[in-house]
Amino acid sequence: MNEKLEDLTKEIVKCEACNLKLGRTQVVPGIYGPKNSLCFVGEAPGYYEDQKGLPFVGRSGKLLDKMLEGIGLAREKDVCILNVIKCRPTTTEGNNRTPTETELRFCGERWLNKQLKLLSPLLVVTLGGIALKFFNPKVSVTKSAGNILDSESEYDVFVTYHPAYILRNYNLMEEYNNHFDRIKQIYNQKKKGNFSSKTDNTEKEVKKKGEQKSITDYF
Ligand code: URA
Repeated sequence: MNEKLEDLTKEIVKCEACNLKLGRTQVVPGIYGPKNSLCFVGEAPGYYEDQKGLPFVGRSGKLLDKMLEGIGLAREKDVCILNVIKCRPTTTEGNNRTPTETELRFCGERWLNKQLKLLSPLLVVTLGGIALKFFNPKVSVTKSAGNILDSESEYDVFVTYHPAYILRNYNLMEEYNNHFDRIKQIYNQKKKGNFSSKTDNTEKEVKKKGEQKSITDYF
């Protein structure tokens, strides 16, 4: 890890800037892969992530790892896994809850933006509607999934579903596989310097391919 990223991470893990500090066990800064690679961005840590201090380690993390494996990539070795929010949002009963827009903006601007600046990803992939909201509050995940956001963002942002959503809507698995194939394709093109989001028409290019896998293939 480069020195600046290490210093930033030291700051993140001791953050006490908002009330999310009250419900957390520990801060979950994320996992860094190489600079100029792919950054997958989720919403916020849940119970297991809060316990382990690592992003996406529960059931949805297992599916994310399988999806990455399917395109020949692995967390940390090849890609970064981050969340917009670094501390687990909890209800008064201690359950997971959806972060508020204020929490999303506050934490994302304070930490995620700085991480992205230092990691300088070729492509950011948002996992689910909450992460997408941080990059563009005006679009919905159902309308933009499988596409690169047409946004002011300084990064190309590819929109896909949260793995937990796929676990609840298994009929979307084939589309999810197509999204990951497309992510790999865009990433490879970007590495060669021959991708332009202006001429990309991702949704139309995504082809139905491969046999439908069984949900048990993922666990
Ligand atoms: N869901 C997320 O959005 N992030 C995690 O780290 C785990 C589950």
